[in-house]
Amino acid sequence: MRTRRKPDWLKMRPPSGRRFTDIKASLRDRNLNTVCEEANCPNMGECWSGRDGPGTATFMLMGDRCSRGCNFCDVQTGGMEPLDPDEPRNVADAVAEIGLDYVVLTSVDRDDLPDQGAGHFAQTIREIKRRDPGVLVEVLIPDFQGEPELVQKIVDAGPDVIAHNIETVERLQWPIRDRRAGYEQSLSVLQYVTDNSDIHTKTSIMLGLGEHAHEVYQTLSDLREADVDIVTFGQYLQPSRTHLDVFEYVHPDVFETWRRVAEDELDFLYCASGPMVRSSYKAGELFVDALLR
Ligand code: SF4
Ligand code: SF4
Repeated sequence: MRTRRKPDWLKMRPPSGRRFTDIKASLRDRNLNTVCEEANCPNMGECWSGRDGPGTATFMLMGDRCSRGCNFCDVQTGGMEPLDPDEPRNVADAVAEIGLDYVVLTSVDRDDLPDQGAGHFAQTIREIKRRDPGVLVEVLIPDFQGEPELVQKIVDAGPDVIAHNIETVERLQWPIRDRRAGYEQSLSVLQYVTDNSDIHTKTSIMLGLGEHAHEVYQTLSDLREADVDIVTFGQYLQPSRTHLDVFEYVHPDVFETWRRVAEDELDFLYCASGPMVRSSYKAGELFVDALLR
């Protein structure tokens, strides 16, 4: 049954504190975008402070307009701008100034560019690592239309984690994702990374879109088959009334069940799962903890 009213477990706490305002100022100075702010992510307080481990922030590269139009996503489609050649250096400067230990880089899709932005992504990774090889870098990449040589450019830049989101179960790929995206294509991107490097791989699944439990289990199995290391589950929230409806608000106990299935039964390195979890939720802290286990 469809549920429209948000349950109590989705209530947000606004972020605050000295570190939070310092980070905001550093980003403004360099004209940089973070997904954390753009999406008004409820986890900013936890992620940015790195209270219990490495602090994490997610930088959005290559502008705020996407060449695709997924029906769950609030990013504007079309009207693509040229790339900012200073962005890789500016991101590296901000990471050094803020003192982040774990950085997530993501981007809009840039099907309009000859290399779909793979070179710009790679350059940003290299700039951060050149400044401080100790900073861990996770990249959440587009599918690059499944072109292996573009994924290889990312592998060659040497990030610590390569993430690509499968988003939902196979049956619901369309209408949820743009028609140029797809289940097999996303699996092939992740498989390419596991076949051609030792870099950890990661993906995310949204719940609450009408998926059935057996389909979620099949998706997890397919991801394990592709040797994906890390998976996260979060609740789909409708960004505006023109976006897809929420089919249901999934209870936190169900998220916990999927976490146990992923970690205990299917042997993922770790699984972050909860209504407010996003792909990069406390990514540094959870990744380092998992490696130390
Ligand atoms: Fe949003 Fe990514 Fe889809 Fe673009 S490709 S519309 S950024 S989810
Ligand atoms: Fe930023 Fe991701 Fe944490 Fe949200 S979950 S605050 S987007 S790093």
